[in-house]
Amino acid sequence: MKFRIRKRYILLLLILLGFVFTGFQEFRHINSGVSRSIGSVRNGRLENGYLLPYKARNFDYFSPISYYLLDNAYVHSKVYYTLIQAFEELEQKTPDRVYSLMECSHRNGGRIPIHRTHMNGLSVDFMVPKVRNGQQIRLWDKLGIWHYALDFDPDGRLWIDKKTKIDFDAMSKAIITIDDASRKNGLKIRKIILKVNLKDNLYATQAGQEIRRRGIYIVKRLAEIVDRVHDDHFHIDFEEI
Ligand SMILES: [Zn+2]
Repeated sequence: MKFRIRKRYILLLLILLGFVFTGFQEFRHINSGVSRSIGSVRNGRLENGYLLPYKARNFDYFSPISYYLLDNAYVHSKVYYTLIQAFEELEQKTPDRVYSLMECSHRNGGRIPIHRTHMNGLSVDFMVPKVRNGQQIRLWDKLGIWHYALDFDPDGRLWIDKKTKIDFDAMSKAIITIDDASRKNGLKIRKIILKVNLKDNLYATQAGQEIRRRGIYIVKRLAEIVDRVHDDHFHIDFEEI
């Protein structure tokens, strides 16, 4: 009996040690060198991925589970520098806005749950910024992985809180700024995925018109299931140039 209890403790200790050893690598990770994206966003992997910060001055990562346990906050080094520079720029352009990044790629790339792409460090999900009475509201940004389940109507109003709307102005400025930064880092935006019926609202903003003028490709038609889930966030695939 005593031995059995001890065995159970040893087993628990081993599981815990294994967890400490394999999990939370993010505390020890150091970004250095150059990343390599192999294959495509749909069938690929990532070598020497760069880890995005969990929290920075005007942006953060949306979920500790995705970040520390699933190891899904890694990107290609060029994407990393693109995002760091873009958010630095956004501190000037939209000083009263904070942004959230959602899932990126696994440390080594490859398939991650619920995504068809995100396999080689060149895909990033961006949470839609939200406003209520003209002020940014971050209440709904704190849902962690459940944020993916939020639904918005075609005008960008949150179904469960109609006074909360997508901040299309901040969102379009962010896209333009990311586009600028990507070109400085040897990348371009290959495509953006956003729920199709939200696109007109995005194009209606001043920066939205610039998105159109530049010909940044926002997917025009989507399979229903893909369309339905791209209202709480938009997805960007980058490509190396
Ligand atoms: Zn995505």
